[in-house]
Amino acid sequence: MEYIICQGCGATIQTEDETKAGYAPKSALEREEVICKRCFRLKHYNEVQDVDMDADDFLNMLHEIGHHDGLIVYIVDLFDVHGSFIQGLHRFVGRNPIVLVGNKVDLLPKSTNLNKIKHWMFRVAKDFGLKVKDIHLVSADKGIGMKETAFDLERFRQGKDTFVVGSTNVGKSTFINYLIQHSTDEEEVITTSYFPGTTLGFIDIPLDETSSMIDTPGIINHHQMAHYLSDKDLKAITPKKEVKPRVFQLTEGQTLYIGGLVRFDIDVADEKNGYVCYFANELNIHRTKRVKADELYENHLGELLSPPTDETLKNWPGLEQESFRINGGKTDVVFSGLGWITIPEGTTSITVHAPKGVKVMLREAII
Ligand code: GDP
Repeated sequence: MEYIICQGCGATIQTEDETKAGYAPKSALEREEVICKRCFRLKHYNEVQDVDMDADDFLNMLHEIGHHDGLIVYIVDLFDVHGSFIQGLHRFVGRNPIVLVGNKVDLLPKSTNLNKIKHWMFRVAKDFGLKVKDIHLVSADKGIGMKETAFDLERFRQGKDTFVVGSTNVGKSTFINYLIQHSTDEEEVITTSYFPGTTLGFIDIPLDETSSMIDTPGIINHHQMAHYLSDKDLKAITPKKEVKPRVFQLTEGQTLYIGGLVRFDIDVADEKNGYVCYFANELNIHRTKRVKADELYENHLGELLSPPTDETLKNWPGLEQESFRINGGKTDVVFSGLGWITIPEGTTSITVHAPKGVKVMLREAII
């Protein structure tokens, strides 16, 4: 079998899966010089698109970056920081400086103390073994904080290449597109080129005569809620604008359902208290008594308790429970890719029910 290589990024051309590197429509194969759809879009529309890759390819890619000298721009989603951190990145970055970018700052409530978020992110990065030069909180989509970030990246890269990495859906393409569109005239067409030494679909976007910004494919984080949801349901749980905190006064023996995706039981609590929910504003939160919670789920999943809806329900894995005892300051219970609930200070025992495989974690409250 003969392989065709994309003349833009070097990925092997395939015509089957639009979400993977090297995809080109069949009609493109007739051209003398074949480029993949991703390079095509960049070349003609100055716009990058993300592609997915599996874990092995991803590790190879990280190795590749470790062998190059340049600045690493590492993008995470502020609404799902732990979920979008890449495991093991620290082993591959070598001596390259890292700038951490927390994207989607527009989703956090206006009252959020961004300095506190920044300090917390420094600590999270440290826990993941990463020493970062700086952290920027931005909205690539709304252009918030982008000018300052672009300025800083230029300063830190010291004339070297910039590698942009991040898991899928953090807004990596939006980020790069912003930089491209604000650094070129509309008429100017970006030329992409094959990044030497790899066939992993790196895209090379020239910054000046000698250096480039390199867009790397994103990796899917398998412990996120997104995995279990149809496109329609994923849309419904993804916040689109500033999340309004919703406060529920709760006591022992009460339960919250977040749609039908997550269930939150208070087993033991000192007293009645305010629990603050941070989820997409459109997502329905239902309060009930714990003794009635099972029955409600059995009878009303997909209706009163939705999403999940039709498509998602076909492969719904059901909910798995896990109990936590919390003793101390305000704590967030985070459901990867969905949102979080802040538990008030004091001693509380809770049981959470989340789809099998979706990560639930505790952290010091960030807001
Ligand atoms: P990629 O997979 O990392 O390349 O992510 P995309 O750039 O395709 O963005 C993923 C989703 O996040 C899209 O629905 C974007 O519209 C959205 N998005 C990107 N940047 C922002 C942002 O700054 N704020 C918000 N609210 N959404 C964003």
